[in-house]
Amino acid sequence: MKARVFWQETLPFPPPLPEAEWPTRVDVAVIGGGYTGLSAARTLAQNGVKVAVLEANEIGWGASSRNGGMALTGLKLSVQTLVRRYGIEFARRLFDFSLQALDYLEKLIQEEGIACDLEHSGHLIVARKPSHARDLQTEVEMLARDFGYPARFLARAGLGEEIASEVYHGGLVDERSLGLNPARYVAGLALAAARQGAKLYPRRRVMRLERQGNGFLLHTSQGRLQAEKVFVATSGYTDAALPHLQRRILPIGSYIIATSPLPEALRLSLIPRRRMVFDTQHYLNYFRLSADGRMIFGGRAVFFPESERILQESARILRKEMEYVFPALRGVEVEYVWGGTLDFALDQMPHVGEEEGISYALGYAGHGVAFGTFFGHTAAQALIAGRLREHPFANLPFTALPSARLRFPLLVLASLWYRWLDLVA
Ligand SMILES: Cc1cc2nc3c(=O)[nH]c(=O)nc-3n(C[C@H](O)[C@H](O)[C@H](O)COP(=O)(O)OP(=O)(O)OC[C@H]3O[C@@H](n4cnc5c(N)ncnc54)[C@H](O)[C@@H]3O)c2cc1C
Repeated sequence: MKARVFWQETLPFPPPLPEAEWPTRVDVAVIGGGYTGLSAARTLAQNGVKVAVLEANEIGWGASSRNGGMALTGLKLSVQTLVRRYGIEFARRLFDFSLQALDYLEKLIQEEGIACDLEHSGHLIVARKPSHARDLQTEVEMLARDFGYPARFLARAGLGEEIASEVYHGGLVDERSLGLNPARYVAGLALAAARQGAKLYPRRRVMRLERQGNGFLLHTSQGRLQAEKVFVATSGYTDAALPHLQRRILPIGSYIIATSPLPEALRLSLIPRRRMVFDTQHYLNYFRLSADGRMIFGGRAVFFPESERILQESARILRKEMEYVFPALRGVEVEYVWGGTLDFALDQMPHVGEEEGISYALGYAGHGVAFGTFFGHTAAQALIAGRLREHPFANLPFTALPSARLRFPLLVLASLWYRWLDLVA
């Protein structure tokens, strides 16, 4: 088994980018070279803004080339929770934003001709307990009644048309979601941003920001840069260079295994419509087929940031889970295992805003493929217009811990709490 990211092996990675000379001054410095940063840079450059993307590793190195490649409708929280928390009007606005994000993603991929195995596969949520199936049914009813949105409920007896597994108690089918190869997509997005005139700088970690006049001086691992504005797109990898955001984002590891390509008859029998699938647990599993017919099966062992020790443990747990869900995959070769870090705000909502003159977009909680792209774009538009405060996600309370060090004890508690909830609820 290779401890490497399968998706990154499907293309020349890191993407071969045009060499860019190091500037002394830019209009906007973007920190982080994933979907959010690259999409923002593309939009800014399209509008004549002089923009540099500073990435600590290779461009696309973070969650954007490691994820499940599921571009989903909706948010991490169900519409039932959104309505309870924010009221129906605002919940509608948030849900609608997720649909706009998918439309935008699809249009961008088409316009830029990005070959990323885009599929109109839809997604399937599967219930691990009978009570979860009732919740999914209520969700479908609420989506139809209050959001005018056509999802479909499947009782246990009808699940066989979607998935060859006996372990689930019902499901929700949503035809709108998309599947793609995340590394191919982020590489294509990087090239698209560069074509528009954005300058991309891999291996430039921002170590410190200093206020200078109306702008900033950024101290990076390879030189300094003046910028009028700074836009942060560092998601789960946000570090001590941005202490006010580091205290707000919990970095949570997630892991994926990929089997070797499965015989066509077998893969079609498992998920005949090639849906993107995830279950209703807190320690959830998510899985799908790759374009070359591998089972891509993800989940997590604990709520901690990614590490080598947890990687091996996760590979073992994920194989066991995969074989439990699909007994037909017992003994199949697992060729790859890798991990990445997700970005969770304490309220599990994405956040856009500006603090201390530094703007940001992050906190996608596992929904960053379409959201990262669209948040980058819409935040860039709002920055240009000076109207970031009007962004639909700009006014949600964005709670900070008193110290970034408290994130780890909190994650230990969350690991135990969610394990308990999965047992009893
Ligand atoms: C295993 C896994 C599976 C997932 N599955 C899905 C899925 O199926 N569907 C979905 O919608 N979402 C999924 N996600 C979430 C999604 O991948 C992310 O939300 C999205 O990629 C975030 O994009 P981003 O550009 O904001 O951040 P990232 O792509 O994480 O990029 C942030 C970058 O910032 C850089 N950085 C950090 N600090 C600094 C600094 N000081 N200086 C310079 N650079 C810095 C990092 O090196 C990193 O490359 C998954 C995530 C993981 C980890």
